[in-house]
Amino acid sequence: MDQTAPAPTLPETPLRPVLDYPFETPPQRGQTLEVAPGVLWIRMPLPYALDHINLWAIDDGQGWAIVDTGARTDEGVATWRALFSQSTDGRSLTRVFVTHMHPDHVGLAGWLTRKFDVALWMTRLEYLSCRVVVSDCSREAPPDAIGFYRRAGWSDGALQAYRARFGNFGKHIHALPDSYRRLRDGEQLHIGRHLWRVVVGSGHSPEHASLYCPDLKLLISGDQVLPRISSNVSVHPMEPDADPMADWLASLDKVRREVPDDVLVLPAHGECFRGLHARIDALASGQQRANERLLAALVEPRRAVDVFGALFSRPISESSPALLGMATGESLACLNHLMHAGLVERSIDAEGIAWYRAVAGA
Ligand SMILES: [Zn+2]
Ligand SMILES: [Zn+2]
Repeated sequence: MDQTAPAPTLPETPLRPVLDYPFETPPQRGQTLEVAPGVLWIRMPLPYALDHINLWAIDDGQGWAIVDTGARTDEGVATWRALFSQSTDGRSLTRVFVTHMHPDHVGLAGWLTRKFDVALWMTRLEYLSCRVVVSDCSREAPPDAIGFYRRAGWSDGALQAYRARFGNFGKHIHALPDSYRRLRDGEQLHIGRHLWRVVVGSGHSPEHASLYCPDLKLLISGDQVLPRISSNVSVHPMEPDADPMADWLASLDKVRREVPDDVLVLPAHGECFRGLHARIDALASGQQRANERLLAALVEPRRAVDVFGALFSRPISESSPALLGMATGESLACLNHLMHAGLVERSIDAEGIAWYRAVAGA
């Protein structure tokens, strides 16, 4: 997990399927918009390049179940307070679901669960990984991480900026509760009058939970399937040889198999849309084309930092350390994936820098 990258998305390369966006505008700050019977859309500001997140409130009988919470910022807390003050039905929160460990999703979970004395519902790997990364934040940047980014081709200046920023991940996360209710893949749970099924995916984060409701034909997709942008898939210093891209592509296939095309998708970023299968197909084929551009660029040996132009449409510069961290993680995810497939080989030079090239004839 990358302590430098709280807003984990990068602009995607084109090819947009025609998606249907049934709601013209998102809800105003501090307001809700009902998107299905008993399901409210909440929009929360974020202090990142990706400037908002969508949260959901589901009628849970005695009160409201919340899905995702926003980053821990003064604005986030103020937005929740505005929502509570405008609530007219007098009902409180019943529980807090969190799709995954990133600060924009989990940041205020500890605050909400304590304030309302309710349980946090999360998958085990997301809960535990979040606690590990947050506790790491009090340390100095470890030598393994410095070596990881040096091997990718970062300059001394970029490494220095990384050291200075190390620990930022935890700043936007309120202390998690010390216990939680585990969510499992395939589990069915009643939220209010309806049954919802947990659909776990991996690649963007370790054990991301989406929530699918067949009755209401809704999929709360978290960061698993987004319109307009693709989710960041990164290799992190903790597991440098990982192949999260394989997990990511398999997870897209799984969602396509398990969730029908006629749902209204409620994504964490962007607008609600219809066209789930077309969007998944576009994301998978977009990645396929990125891999092809990357292979073409690797006719000559290149470092991870040399392949940004082949993968991303916007320039990546050292002057934006968060973007540099995400782009490096994602480039390594693509490079590792091609290495695992036997299409790319890596050699480490005398300076400890990794160079990648396409395997001739593969
Ligand atoms: Zn995320
Ligand atoms: Zn997100």
